[in-house]
Amino acid sequence: MEPNRRNFLRLAGTAGIGVVGSGWGRYAARAGAVSSGANTVTLDHAEAKFEDGGTLRIPFWRIESGVAGPSLLALAAQHGNEVQGVEVVRRLKEVCARQLIAGSVWLVPMANLPAIRVRRHSVDLGPEQPNKFSKGHNMQQAWPGNPEGNDTERLAYALDRAVVRHCSHAVDIHCWNHFLAAETLVTRGHAPSELLSSATTTRFINYLPVSPPLDKASSLYDLMHRRGGAGIVIEFSGQYQMQERQVQLGLTCMMNIAKALGLLAGEPEPLEGPRVERTPAKTHTVLAPCSGVFMTALKKGTTEQLIPADFVEQGQPLGHILRESDLETVPVVAPVSGYLWQLNACHGNVCDASLPAQHPYTERAETLALIVTR
Ligand SMILES: [Zn+2]
Repeated sequence: MEPNRRNFLRLAGTAGIGVVGSGWGRYAARAGAVSSGANTVTLDHAEAKFEDGGTLRIPFWRIESGVAGPSLLALAAQHGNEVQGVEVVRRLKEVCARQLIAGSVWLVPMANLPAIRVRRHSVDLGPEQPNKFSKGHNMQQAWPGNPEGNDTERLAYALDRAVVRHCSHAVDIHCWNHFLAAETLVTRGHAPSELLSSATTTRFINYLPVSPPLDKASSLYDLMHRRGGAGIVIEFSGQYQMQERQVQLGLTCMMNIAKALGLLAGEPEPLEGPRVERTPAKTHTVLAPCSGVFMTALKKGTTEQLIPADFVEQGQPLGHILRESDLETVPVVAPVSGYLWQLNACHGNVCDASLPAQHPYTERAETLALIVTR
């Protein structure tokens, strides 16, 4: 038996970690089951009742193997501008329909449909407004929801009742802005969750501090922990967009997690090269040497531009600035060897909501890149 599988059995037992009963019968009675390959794929809905009396049905898939085992949730797009997980979940459904050998998977590709429809992080945000302007509609902090709360809290409540509380393991899929690399977020020392994070193949991993138990609403992974389950976050690179490279990374991460839990056959596909823990001590800041327009360099020996997560060697060109004062071309080079955590300046730290914040005009001493050493 390979180590991850053995660890899982030790930590959780084969039937999952103390979650609410499966409720299969109740769902089977009202949901349409479609046979797809070896396993049954069920399309079901979480129905939220909104403040104005209206309802919204969020669709999800459930795939059952018929064999006892963990129940894995993949939930994407709690934030409506972070949508690459939608396609990851769609592809995971295709894989699990054919290949699931134990347990079940619960797949919510568009968790926050109201925010997706307005194409913003949260449903109540206006143009140029980042997350902090939301008045209580950040779904990520709304768990387990509230049937008497605002519409986002009601939506979280409906998803919890229909999906989350039935799951032993959860992956909450988000996206950083496209100047940042993909990474996995996990609570340090939470063994069931670290089993999941150890199976992902993002270059970066960031360990979150253990948070004290809260009596108020919190994140999805925190809710999973409180219930004795496992939960992590994966952040892909790029909001408002769908990138094949990121989707493939996401599918590998999710299939690896399913393999580590024994839901799919085979060994997890290893990350090529090192896993890099992002800590302040290992993070080197590259400041803009002057004001002007920044152009990123090409990867060595290619015609492709450098992107976050790429490895750069000390002295390697990261790009250049056409200086505004005298039109000199001013090179920007990597001060250390390491992996690019950030490339390009995110002005005012609001480029998840603002196009001007992503503009390549860069002022002197702005952060142009962050490089994390091994
Ligand atoms: Zn997010």
